[in-house]
Amino acid sequence: MHSAFATDVVIAGCGPAGAMLAAELRLHEVRVLVLEREIEPASFVRIVSLHVRSLELMAMRGLLDRLLENGRRRPLGGLFAALPAPAPTHLDSPYAYQLGIPQPVVVRLLEEHATALGAEVRRGRAVTGFAQDDAGVTVELDDGERLRARFLVGCDGARSTVRKRLGVGFPGEPARTETLMGEMEVGASPEEIAAKVGGAQRRFWLRPFGGGIYSVVVPAAEVGDRTRPPTLDDFRTQLRAVAGTDFGVHSPRWLSRFGDATRLAERYRVGRVLLAGDAAHIHPPIGGQGLNLGVQDAVNLGWKLAAHVHGRAPDALLDTYEAERRPVAADVLDNTRAQTELLSAEPGSQAVRRLLTELIGIEEVNRRLTEKITATGVRYDLGDGPVLLGRRLPDLDVAGGRLYGLLRHGRGLLLDRTARLRADGWSDRVDHLPDPTADLDAPCVLLRPDGHVAWIGDDQRDLDGHLARWFGPPTG
Ligand SMILES: Cc1cc2nc3c(=O)[nH]c(=O)nc-3n(C[C@H](O)[C@H](O)[C@H](O)COP(=O)(O)OP(=O)(O)OC[C@H]3O[C@@H](n4cnc5c(N)ncnc54)[C@H](O)[C@@H]3O)c2cc1C
Repeated sequence: MHSAFATDVVIAGCGPAGAMLAAELRLHEVRVLVLEREIEPASFVRIVSLHVRSLELMAMRGLLDRLLENGRRRPLGGLFAALPAPAPTHLDSPYAYQLGIPQPVVVRLLEEHATALGAEVRRGRAVTGFAQDDAGVTVELDDGERLRARFLVGCDGARSTVRKRLGVGFPGEPARTETLMGEMEVGASPEEIAAKVGGAQRRFWLRPFGGGIYSVVVPAAEVGDRTRPPTLDDFRTQLRAVAGTDFGVHSPRWLSRFGDATRLAERYRVGRVLLAGDAAHIHPPIGGQGLNLGVQDAVNLGWKLAAHVHGRAPDALLDTYEAERRPVAADVLDNTRAQTELLSAEPGSQAVRRLLTELIGIEEVNRRLTEKITATGVRYDLGDGPVLLGRRLPDLDVAGGRLYGLLRHGRGLLLDRTARLRADGWSDRVDHLPDPTADLDAPCVLLRPDGHVAWIGDDQRDLDGHLARWFGPPTG
């Protein structure tokens, strides 16, 4: 540990990505300070979908039960552009469903998890700038205070100050359309609403929330000023334009707007400053992937950054964060572009939609598209090797329980059916489970703390090389 700094890592932004990253770093006793601009957590209740890979990660870290208590399980079918398809069979996960849950609840639970592990979160404090040198980063706050840390991570959302100050480009497409979204009371009867919503080809929707409150989503008239919240009159005008009635909407709880801009940061790391979550990638919310992607960035980055902080990381380890996660984000951007086309009313797009509706009846096509949205198909490029290399390992039955229960503390794991391999030099970072009965189609796998397969084999020298590659030199 480097005592010259009171803080190892400053995280700008306590959204889902920032809170998850703080918790992941705390698993490795990194001293973390999260600076969040807003005094109160966001009040508007956007229901988000957590998808299979995120649910798996939550199960791994012991958080899934708390999320399940606060959300609603929904079946997996129809995830890609709402094409009519059932859930594919053989998804190979006990968590093969989606969880609808308010985003502020996800943030609260992750923040509680991070603080319970020892992270400090300071609210009402915005990062306005920074300067980095060989030893660390000086972070500037909106009240003029300056803090020193070894690393700064920008988890400060789509308009990231950290990304802009870093001078990292954010190329892509600007918003072409905008959508109004809010919660309000409605004068029309449920029957009137059902008749209109059913016939309008997904151009708008009103979804009951209970207590007479509806979630209302309708296209905006134009791409407007995003800093100006929409008014109730904007909703009335647009509902009349697309539905022929404003449904008597009144008494809004909150009103918001979002666009379909699609952008990817040119770099995820410049020296001691990194980007994660929406600060690194934005895309339309279709398929419900942004939060999932950010949480998965955090789980990929946490253990690598921790190893650097503790001075035991192999040189190139931190660079694998961008090498692995940026292509995953690029793929998500592409699938949202494709889904947007499939939802267009243009004749060509409608023809492609009809064609894909036919093709998605083929199980393999359905599975491939579902794996894209749920992130269960992600394979990091770790070089040539068996099909499992670089992929997630499902939650297998192992001696004494299930695999994910062994990954709670964010350590590596050697799952060893040969029961003769050793990882003694890394026992402070990697657990060893000799288990000839493990339900595994390989002699031995080395799992990284994010649950991805780093090595497959049965040769001790080969294993030692890979332990050093991912976890640094042995101790003792
Ligand atoms: C309508 C809609 C529906 C969606 N549905 C889904 C869904 O179903 N599933 C899904 O996965 N995703 C969904 N998303 C996307 C998801 O909401 C975002 O991807 C997610 O919020 C990104 O998390 P984040 O932590 O990266 O950024 P944010 O949630 O934007 O958090 C950033 C935080 O940083 C703070 N901040 C900003 N600047 C500073 C600063 N300078 N200093 C300190 N703090 C700062 C902000 O106050 C904020 O708390 C949806 C988005 C929309 C618009």
